[in-house]
Amino acid sequence: MTAPYSDCPEVRQAIIDACLHLNAKGINQGTSGNVSVRAGASMLITPSGIPYSDMTPDMIQSVPLDATPTARGPLKPSSEWRFHQALLTAKPDSHAIVHAHPVHCTALAQNRQPIPAVHYMVAAFGGHDVPLAGYALFGGEELAKNVVNAMTGRHACLMANHGATVVGETLDKALWRMEELETLARGYVLSLSAGTPHVLDRFQIEEALAAFADYGPRD
Ligand code: 13P
Ligand code: ZN
Repeated sequence: MTAPYSDCPEVRQAIIDACLHLNAKGINQGTSGNVSVRAGASMLITPSGIPYSDMTPDMIQSVPLDATPTARGPLKPSSEWRFHQALLTAKPDSHAIVHAHPVHCTALAQNRQPIPAVHYMVAAFGGHDVPLAGYALFGGEELAKNVVNAMTGRHACLMANHGATVVGETLDKALWRMEELETLARGYVLSLSAGTPHVLDRFQIEEALAAFADYGPRD
């Protein structure tokens, strides 16, 4: 499905499918994580505290991009609506956000270690590292600020003592990034345990960033 998205049952179902895919891949479980897409002047976002396997399209919440959500019905939008809203506002070319607590990303985030350029795939996240957003209580304004700051010029960040967040031009792209981020984190954790990983230099990453601009099918 290509962006721009609108608020319709197919897009709501695509959000649920994305969540189920993350569970199937072992990237999320239970009610950890949340997913949103931009739909005009609002965002569609997963409800708070509902297992993905129980979600139906009518449970997906619509929240304006420029206002606090109003209470309607028994469900609440994800407790992380503030950083989803802040990222969609700060990044007009991003139309989807995936937040998760994947084990290897979270292990590094617990150590408060960003991911340096230990693999050329770091370039898939927009720069020479995957930065770390500073710790703040989940769901708060401070966490939203920390995530937006960390993701300036980046498509992903680790979140101290919490997990990871990625953006995408489409929902598929955001899902792809989250899977690649967890793979990158797993490789980094393994190389740290086996020795001292070599970090690519700035030129090598600039080269990879340029190559990424032309990566994939012609269209
Ligand atoms: P929600 O169920 O409110 O989306 O919270 C999950 C989460 O990951 C909070 O950071
Ligand atoms: Zn979380």
